Amino acid sequence: MGFTTRQIHSGVEPDPVSGSILTPIYQTTTYVQDSVDEYLAKGYSYSRSANPTVRALEVKLADLEGGADCSCYGTGMAAINALFMACLNAGDHCVISDVAYGGTYRLATKIYSRFGVEFTFADTSDTDAVAASLRDNTRLVLTETPANPTLKLTDLAAVSKLTRARGIPHAVDNTFLTPYYQRPLELGADIVVHSTTKYFDGHNATVGGAVITATQDLDDQVRFVQNATGTIMSPFVAFLTLQGCKTLSVRLERQSASALAIAQFLEAHPKVTKVCYPGLESFAQADLARSQASGFGAMLWFEVAGGLASGKALMDCIDLWSLAENLGSVESLITHPVTMTHADVEEAERHRVGITDGLVRASVGLEDTADLIDALREALG
Ligand code: PLP
Repeated sequence: MGFTTRQIHSGVEPDPVSGSILTPIYQTTTYVQDSVDEYLAKGYSYSRSANPTVRALEVKLADLEGGADCSCYGTGMAAINALFMACLNAGDHCVISDVAYGGTYRLATKIYSRFGVEFTFADTSDTDAVAASLRDNTRLVLTETPANPTLKLTDLAAVSKLTRARGIPHAVDNTFLTPYYQRPLELGADIVVHSTTKYFDGHNATVGGAVITATQDLDDQVRFVQNATGTIMSPFVAFLTLQGCKTLSVRLERQSASALAIAQFLEAHPKVTKVCYPGLESFAQADLARSQASGFGAMLWFEVAGGLASGKALMDCIDLWSLAENLGSVESLITHPVTMTHADVEEAERHRVGITDGLVRASVGLEDTADLIDALREALG
């Protein structure tokens, strides 16, 4: 069946007790066992290990990404932490995209480095640079594409071919495009991670994360961490995320169409010095954007003449767009990554990878496109 049918129905059965069409919020810690010998016969014992509402979401997300299985977490960062814990030991090396969400960079440099894990932040848009960064002790390659916030792309098939030849798992943060537009496992990747906080929820209501694996064996390794560290998603968050998933494709199509129109408006505006959106002809990796994904997403960034001061003035005064950290919601959000999402990335590293001081990140929501453009026109003056 098609994606839009599956985003509604996959993983969800009418409740066996009441017929409720929505999977109930199984707000319980404990599951009574029929007998000692039948322990776990129904699949549940304790909600840190598994919960039926969370399980419904896991089955849905595994199906949408085309994976063997999925485990869900309290946040996107908890999902990435589970990935690191499952794959990395002291003395191991991990390669990460040099442009990635600031929290991923912080987890690597401020936490895992304390436990003897080494990291290389490589330009994963250059497959040769990925090859050059691999070492004998490399145990994980994590790419983020499009990357937060510069939207730099990684050639997923090329990097997967490289890692597969070396027996190293390739994990992809697919938060920006979601499986509706991009399915890394079909391109050869082994693991997909998500901040479900973003497009799966879509309504600024929850924080959550997911790890989807190509094999059951990889899922077993990551799920072991989920239980051992107690980072499973809550049933209420899973319930809300299940509802968000039902409209994912519809929201993303509409938000992406608006993003393209907004990017074109900004590109033609005399006060805008640079616009970056994968759907623009001017996008540096336009061919890759078209070949490995079926849509361009709803994230873009731009710079205003006058640099940082003008960018800040715009973000402070703009109507309709909310100045906020999140992305992927029906509400349009505008963010200053240097102060907000990427504040923990060292200044020199930010400049090296193109996260400029004046970069204004826009997450295009579901409001009328004309209203969003009018608000930008007004704020640009
Ligand atoms: N990955 C990406 C690409 C993100 O943008 C974010 C958050 O902004 C995360 C992971 C972390 O997710 P969360 O905020 O749900 O912990």
